[in-house]
Amino acid sequence: MTASIDPYLSTEAMLEVALNEARLGFGEGGVPVGAALFASDGTLLGRGRNRRVQNDDPSVHGETDAFRRAGRQRDYRSTIMVTTLSPCWYCAGLIRQFGIGKVIIGEARHFEGRHDWLAEAGVAIEVLDDERCFDLMTRFIGRSPDVWKEDIGEV
Ligand SMILES: [Zn+2]
Repeated sequence: MTASIDPYLSTEAMLEVALNEARLGFGEGGVPVGAALFASDGTLLGRGRNRRVQNDDPSVHGETDAFRRAGRQRDYRSTIMVTTLSPCWYCAGLIRQFGIGKVIIGEARHFEGRHDWLAEAGVAIEVLDDERCFDLMTRFIGRSPDVWKEDIGEV
């Protein structure tokens, strides 16, 4: 999927794409984590959301969904991954494996991934601490505490 939107997309506008995915996921009864992969000029390459519940598939996280929908890219170093929640090990591994250059994070209060481990690999990290992302996760955890625990690997 390739859709060009504003070629000079602001950080806030990029987060909006990921947040809309998270909201869709919440509406579907899923884990509301959304993500989007952008080219350095703000072109949207792919967007997606966690579909653990919807697809009965724990391997579909927001970041991996956006990544897969972006298809093959020649160069990942110049791409920007935007996610509503700090990336887990699995998604951080994907970011390092493909050398994605920058990660913009909606919030890292409900879950904080290893930002230092990403930074070590030269990944630029920007945490926005966006209230809308935080509030959506708060609502979800209140509604589905067991699914949240499952998602972060707590039994
Ligand atoms: Zn993940």
